[in-house]
Amino acid sequence: MTLTPPLDSFRSVMAVCAHPDDESFGLGALIAELVEGGSRVGLVTFTHGEASTLGDLTPEEVGPERVGELSAATKVLGIEAASLLDYPDGRLAEVPVEELADHVVRVAEPLGADCLVTFDRGGITGHPDHCRATDAALAAAERLQIPALGWTLPAAVSCRLRAEGAGGFVGRPAAEIDVTVTVDRRRQLAAIACHASQSTANPVLWRRLELQGSQEACRWLR
Ligand SMILES: [Zn+2]
Repeated sequence: MTLTPPLDSFRSVMAVCAHPDDESFGLGALIAELVEGGSRVGLVTFTHGEASTLGDLTPEEVGPERVGELSAATKVLGIEAASLLDYPDGRLAEVPVEELADHVVRVAEPLGADCLVTFDRGGITGHPDHCRATDAALAAAERLQIPALGWTLPAAVSCRLRAEGAGGFVGRPAAEIDVTVTVDRRRQLAAIACHASQSTANPVLWRRLELQGSQEACRWLR
């Protein structure tokens, strides 16, 4: 399969996420494109996602369940090197950026990462953990001296979601979008299915994917 430029120029890409499921719900289609195009992909996830209130698991059950779901989704996406940290879900902003960046560099270096992918500034949903993960990714990209691609939503999608009452989605006007990739969502959907605790009763996720169609939008953050 031939990758869409500029994704075709990267042999090894490091993904940086706050929570289990971000790599699938958010970056999943891009990661699948990269892997199928022959890139090696690594992943750092900073929390176990134990603060989630979706689904009917008890607070004690959610974290361990999501760790297992992430492990399964990682395999489905074809991620080669995954590192899961245990920072407190919902309080990632309290952790020093450089400490978080250390973890990214530790996985990215042996993988020979020549690009990094993470959520756009603003965190897509506005979640402070997402914003912190992006800060950490950018600090790591600076140290590694590699480009950083931010996954984003077109403003048409984010505005529509907000109008439908779906929360604080942050998108970008067309002029701020640098890369649009046509994706095949099959592998992403299989990875999403691994995160059953978060995806089965998540109408906002399904509506967002519907509005995105077969397109993913990105910005160069570095
Ligand atoms: Zn998240």
